[in-house]
Amino acid sequence: APTLRLILGDQLNPLHSWFAAPSDDVIHVLIEMRQETDYVLHHAQKILAIFAAMRAFAGQLREAGHRVHYVAIDNPSNRQTLPANLDALIVAHGAGAFEYQQPDEWRLDAQLADYARGLSIPARMVDSEHFYTTRSEAAELFEGRKQWLMEHFYRAMRRRHQVLLEGDKPVGGQWNFDHDNRKPWPGTPAEPRDPRPRHDHSALWQTIEAAGVASFGNPQAGNLPWPLDRAEALAQLDAFITDALPRFGDFQDAMSTRGWRLFHSLLSFALNTKMLSPREVVARAEAAWQAGQVPLAAAEGFIRQILGWREYVRGVYWARMPAYAEANALGHDRPLPAWFWTGKTKMRCLAESVGQSLEHAYAHHIQRLMVIGNFALLAGLDPAEVHRWYLGIYIDAFEWVELPNTVGMSQFADGGLLATKPYVSSAAYLDRMGDYCKGCHYDKKARSGSHACPFNALYWDFFDRQRERLGNNHRLGMVYRQLDKMEGNTLDALRTQAASLRERLDSL
Ligand code: FAD
Repeated sequence: APTLRLILGDQLNPLHSWFAAPSDDVIHVLIEMRQETDYVLHHAQKILAIFAAMRAFAGQLREAGHRVHYVAIDNPSNRQTLPANLDALIVAHGAGAFEYQQPDEWRLDAQLADYARGLSIPARMVDSEHFYTTRSEAAELFEGRKQWLMEHFYRAMRRRHQVLLEGDKPVGGQWNFDHDNRKPWPGTPAEPRDPRPRHDHSALWQTIEAAGVASFGNPQAGNLPWPLDRAEALAQLDAFITDALPRFGDFQDAMSTRGWRLFHSLLSFALNTKMLSPREVVARAEAAWQAGQVPLAAAEGFIRQILGWREYVRGVYWARMPAYAEANALGHDRPLPAWFWTGKTKMRCLAESVGQSLEHAYAHHIQRLMVIGNFALLAGLDPAEVHRWYLGIYIDAFEWVELPNTVGMSQFADGGLLATKPYVSSAAYLDRMGDYCKGCHYDKKARSGSHACPFNALYWDFFDRQRERLGNNHRLGMVYRQLDKMEGNTLDALRTQAASLRERLDSL
């Protein structure tokens, strides 16, 4: 009897050992399901790109001689949930064993573990052969510590995997070049050309819509701009290394109305669906530095995101789930303003960042963290709602990476496990790092009055409200000293302004 092997939509790695040699005794199954389209409201491009990439993967497996059973979203026999579909497939093929790769989402991990336990045929979970670390490696490294410093983890990873290392010392004499990576972008050098392929998937989009799947954002179905297989992802990686990586470090934290991706790689979709392995991406960046093609600060800054942050947040996720999804240390409970779904707000930074997210299913890190997340935290939005928004809107949003970034790093809802202080700012930072404030309806300098930038009053009010929790944080000494120096009536005016802003978030 054949073995049934399940391939999830974010497990599109053709180099997995499962595919080393075709076998008649193995049937690979890929299933498009409502269970996956409906657990949160997704951006149209995300659903389309994942299904299109799954179809491409199935096609390539078949060409390589593998047996594949593909269940499309509109297939009449599709039961739309994982257990029901697997039950039917096991019976249809008379399968004698069931195997799956380790899922990255808690939701699927629990569902499949439960399913496997109930099966009467042998079931086995294998490694997905993608990450540097195991699920529990970060937790083991941080054992007994109250705070999980990313930098500590990152250095351990550099040593363990011998990346940018001379003996046991960091090349260039420094672990971290973060301080060199904080330049605004003056408009030159020009933003590199968009390195992504384009595909017409109008027909598939019609199928998805006809099946009744709900979504939001621009589908760009006739011109879908994401890599859909490994070859395309590799071509995009090549283009990034030559065109954008040299300046990645410089402008990593920049924001601009004149460029929506700046010098970022746009590789998160290819990485998170496992078309690319983090090791090869890191190796390419390191090799480019060794060959003298990119500065060390650029290579290190980029590598830190992948070998550091990406593996680290995964460790946080597995250590803290399932409670992490409910974390709300600051007790925030406001619903998202309606303009999160339209981009229609007078705050230019948010109109640009939300607007481009709806258009491209993408925002770069600083837009996610210091514009949208910053506002959400200052305004006191419900972190679980914020989490569902992030999980839906971005092309690369899979819960294992999205949740710690949103709930931990961006909303401080875990009380500071991941971030040493809340990532918030007033208008001054936004103005320093980009051009969003130019031509904005609001006045970046004013703290009160109807034209004052909402970030200002909300910022001071946030620290005022959170004094008990944050007042002793040594990284916030400056902020609290400034607050202490404020006259009583200045502070009162800020409080009143902030309270009024929070009452009318929808109309800001
Ligand atoms: P680049 O800037 O080119 O970085 C290269 C790679 O490094 C990325 O592709 C990504 O794999 C990795 N990386 C960078 N920063 C992080 C980080 N903080 N955590 C994990 N990996 C990182 N990333 C996701 O992949 N999925 C998400 O759902 C997601 N949600 C986020 C939500 C919030 C609130 C914040 C603040 C960040 C989130 N990130 C998420 C992290 C980061 O913003 C994206 O990985 C990045 O913007 C993807 O674009 P890029 O490929 O052009 O990245």
